[in-house]
Amino acid sequence: MLSAVLHEPNHLELVTRDVPEPGPGDVLLKIEATTLCGTDIRILDGSKTAGVRPGVVPGHEIAGRIAAVGDGVVGYAVGQQATVSIVVSCNRCRACLNDREHLCADLALFGYGIDGGLAEYMLVPADVVAKGNLMTTSVEIPPTTLALSEPVSCCLNGFDQYAAGPGDTVVILGAGPIGLLHTQLAARMAGARQIIVSNRSAARREAALVCGATHTVDPSATDLAAFVRDATDGAGADVVVVCIGGLDLANVALDLAGIGGRVSYFAGFPKGSTAVMDPNLVHYKELVVTGGSNARRRDVRRAIAVLESGLIDAAPIVSHQFPLSDLFGAYDALKQRTGVKIAVLP
Ligand SMILES: [Zn+2]
Ligand SMILES: [Zn+2]
Repeated sequence: MLSAVLHEPNHLELVTRDVPEPGPGDVLLKIEATTLCGTDIRILDGSKTAGVRPGVVPGHEIAGRIAAVGDGVVGYAVGQQATVSIVVSCNRCRACLNDREHLCADLALFGYGIDGGLAEYMLVPADVVAKGNLMTTSVEIPPTTLALSEPVSCCLNGFDQYAAGPGDTVVILGAGPIGLLHTQLAARMAGARQIIVSNRSAARREAALVCGATHTVDPSATDLAAFVRDATDGAGADVVVVCIGGLDLANVALDLAGIGGRVSYFAGFPKGSTAVMDPNLVHYKELVVTGGSNARRRDVRRAIAVLESGLIDAAPIVSHQFPLSDLFGAYDALKQRTGVKIAVLP
């Protein structure tokens, strides 16, 4: 089979290797689509190394189909469409026991430490199957849609914490795939009244409107703070979701929020960075500041459900497709921010 291998940072290779043979308890997936995200670039260029094993097959937004099951596997059948919850947690540590298995002290991730989806086949090891990370769909959906269960699950984890609700004004900073998914969640799950999406790219502002934004703003041309004030009769936003790791946005988000507002630093910021913030914005407005990193198995289960129901629409998100044989073309497109999201199809 054709498989990507990341030997070390900036040394990605496409190789031919044997299809993994499922041992007792293992399940073999035939990969049908793997979508790429910004983290894949950071894994490739070495700016993300934690948990990354030299020689790993990258790819953590995975859609496949069960091709074979090892001895003793129950509850899964050949032919079922499936994906994995990529966080394999210990289920024993403090985080795991506090409903935060995705922040486990001893976790392993598909596409980082465990071979991921940029190959024709992927083995789901027996211990991972036993932990319930392998999840099947209940209706057939396009593989490029199912692959989004990973980013959607992460967004649902953030969404639960910033708690957008009916009638809210939600401001979303950034309209990449993550910003567009939060836009869809705010529009379709929360029933927000106003969704204001800020992005410099006209194409991405256009995509935001398709995803349910009621207003879009080019922050290089329009005063975003004034825009939000006008749109809310001076009250400010109920929810602000930061989907770009720009340090200046840390305080911008606190400023845009109104009394009792919720601010999510959903994007990661550069490692070790610090930002200047006015803590009185949190104090006097009683803001709730949250984040979001990875997702639980139940978030993935719910992500599959919202993708199956059509509540979240993959069409405006997955804009480009590449064959696995053109892996480097796919990574180049990702680096050049071509379209919105890149899918790789074996
Ligand atoms: Zn990702
Ligand atoms: Zn744990």
